[in-house]
Amino acid sequence: MTENPATITVGSATAAPGTAVRGGIAVTRLAGGAILEIPVVVLNGARPGPCLWINAAIHGDEPEGTLTCQALARKVNPENLAGTLVLVPAMNVPAFEAGQRGNPLDTFSYDLNRIYPGRAEGYLTERLAWVHAQWMTKVADMEISIHSGGAHSYLSETIFVNEDAKSVELAKAMGRGWGLVLSAISPKGNPMAAMLEAGKTGITVELGGRSATSPEEMKRVEATLVEAALNVMRHYKMIEGEPHYAEFLWKGVQEALLAPASGIFIPATGVGCQRPMKKGDAIASIVDVWGDTVSELFAPADGMIFGLRALPNITTGEWCCFYAKLNGRRD
Ligand SMILES: [Zn+2]
Repeated sequence: MTENPATITVGSATAAPGTAVRGGIAVTRLAGGAILEIPVVVLNGARPGPCLWINAAIHGDEPEGTLTCQALARKVNPENLAGTLVLVPAMNVPAFEAGQRGNPLDTFSYDLNRIYPGRAEGYLTERLAWVHAQWMTKVADMEISIHSGGAHSYLSETIFVNEDAKSVELAKAMGRGWGLVLSAISPKGNPMAAMLEAGKTGITVELGGRSATSPEEMKRVEATLVEAALNVMRHYKMIEGEPHYAEFLWKGVQEALLAPASGIFIPATGVGCQRPMKKGDAIASIVDVWGDTVSELFAPADGMIFGLRALPNITTGEWCCFYAKLNGRRD
């Protein structure tokens, strides 16, 4: 096998072939004197191969990807790796520190996953996005953004693709249990879109969130995500082993059902993620403080729920159900 001749640099992390190096992508210096930087781990393989870049905590209340990056850094030995694995365990650092979706101090560009790749001279989150994008689009061949339902919802195994052949292949490489492959919600504003624009590819994956944060459930979510990432690396021959695949891949689009009324969100009996539903099937009701039903939600089309609100308190307009409108299978 040929040697990997390339040293890989991301921010302050420079990794020679066969080594793993931690570092950071500097954003700015804060008023208290601390440097704001995005943590990064570069695992540079001893042999040549593609560069897989994994982003976690683009939303600060979604630590599932962070735990996945930590586990991958422990499990993957760069001496047995072909290509490079770049791990970003917490992308929106101020949001991660606050345990919130976005940086609470940056109300002008709050959601990093809507403003990416930002602007060099924009608001703070835009600048953070910009420096991250410079490194990622230069170094990476493919990118996986790991999301979850965060503080409000639980999301089951779901992948969003650009619908180009490369992103569908990357989705397929996630393996067994990852058969729900939907079209990207937004063609712009996120790392996947920036990778496509750079002539590369990426996917966005969802798993976990509220109601799956008990010790056992958190472990299950982490183990599932770690296995999927390792399977991607097997598929692209970055590590040894036989990859596995989902039995079939669904094709569809997301419809996020927003609360028509405020109150308490109560899912209907038997409702759960990834169970086929018919248009008009009951999903949930919302009751007011007296217990009277003020609204009912029904399946908008044939398909399946892939995410459900887990915090029962709800206000008009908030997310309550993530529904996949299915239009067949991918072959
Ligand atoms: Zn998210």
